[in-house]
Amino acid sequence: MTTSADWFDRARAVTPGGVNSPVRAFGSVGGTPTFTAEADGAWITDVDGNRRVDLICGWGPLLLGHSHPEVVAAVQDTAAKMMCPGGSTPGEVELAEAIVKRLEGSGVDEVRLVSTGTEATMTAIRLARGATGRDLIVKFAGCYHGHSDGLLAAAGSGLATLALPGSAGVPEAITAQTIVVPYNDLDAVRAAFAEHEGRIAAVITEASPANMGVVPPAPGFNRDLAAICHDNGALLICDEVLTGFRTGPAGWWGREQEDPERGGWQADIYTFGKVIGGGMPVAGLGARREIMDHLAPLGAVYQAGTLSGNPVAVAAGIATLRLATDEVYATIDAASDRIIAAARREFARVGLPVAVQRVRNLFSFAFGDGEALGWTGRDEFGVSAPTNEDEVKRQESWRYPAFFHAMLDAGVNLPPSVFEAWFLSSAHDEDALAAIEAALPAAADAAAAVTRP
Ligand SMILES: *Cc1c(COP(=O)(O)O)cnc(C)c1O
Repeated sequence: MTTSADWFDRARAVTPGGVNSPVRAFGSVGGTPTFTAEADGAWITDVDGNRRVDLICGWGPLLLGHSHPEVVAAVQDTAAKMMCPGGSTPGEVELAEAIVKRLEGSGVDEVRLVSTGTEATMTAIRLARGATGRDLIVKFAGCYHGHSDGLLAAAGSGLATLALPGSAGVPEAITAQTIVVPYNDLDAVRAAFAEHEGRIAAVITEASPANMGVVPPAPGFNRDLAAICHDNGALLICDEVLTGFRTGPAGWWGREQEDPERGGWQADIYTFGKVIGGGMPVAGLGARREIMDHLAPLGAVYQAGTLSGNPVAVAAGIATLRLATDEVYATIDAASDRIIAAARREFARVGLPVAVQRVRNLFSFAFGDGEALGWTGRDEFGVSAPTNEDEVKRQESWRYPAFFHAMLDAGVNLPPSVFEAWFLSSAHDEDALAAIEAALPAAADAAAAVTRP
């Protein structure tokens, strides 16, 4: 039998680090990454023959679990007819229509489909610059928007200063067009607009950040952010690549509109990915018609893609959105309640303080005593919780590798980093949820037993 360890050796011989996306290498938890043989519903089976409950779900796309039969059928039927005809196909129109319909009231009239979230945000920024005639972009530290140059920016030496490269190979001249400010900090955004008056094209934000662990926006944060952008002639880009159609039928934007404390705002450009491809490479951006009209072929902002709107890929997205009913979201919300309650019980039993970082069906846990660590927020249980990247990073992340490996040994596939959300799906049924609950006690013991390095 070729084991995961064998495959990882072979992979490392032909692929940098043995992976095609860095988090898969288990760098922050140690050990050998598992190679998947098969995945079905809530379950994933590795080439070593271990069957585990999966809490990664493709990093978000698999709202319905792995290989939902109707999604698979849509892909197979389409592939048998065509794979890449090179011209337009009906599926692209149907997917765009489904997205526009779900986002009624958001301002999205039109959608352009691309293949990855990285392309969606990159294009959104080019579009914002083309539409405003301005160059500078504001982003929040800890928000991830894919790996294009200008978005791999690290905060400069002071607030409202131009950013530094966040990766080797990114020119300073490019990140000097980006200003990085702390999340949940509207004063920092106001300071950036004051310092760079008339030069900021857009602020880009995750609708709710979930790439530094989950960090919910403070009530009214997105609404006030939109108002600040609009008062200053800039656009708000709401990145829903992860949250879109996952946290609710109209994404996190839609969830906020249901809440009087949070609702009453529109972004100017929204980006999507993950769920709209249902596990296949589809992403997109949407906006009002007059903004979208700046894109080629109508306008002067260039964008294109050989695989954009690929019929096989959009078939998976259409089927996923069709099946993602209100009931699906209610089911995953309830499953999230149950797993959060079980984890809190076990952490309390072993005396480990944790904050629950959550937006509906996306959640993560931040380890540590928030009062001692200087966290400035509260979670839904009134526990001190982190509100930005700086605070999140102060947590006892050294407890996570032991927790992760104990869960893995007990048959649960968690994200291999404490700074990632846990992903449930509508396929997580009683068996799957009970398996997670059964794994938690030993993992909480393991997390509590780790001593500070
Ligand atoms: C995943 C993600 C991206 C990037 O999408 P890719 O398809 O991985 O390029 C962008 N923004 C957010 C919020 C994401 O979670």
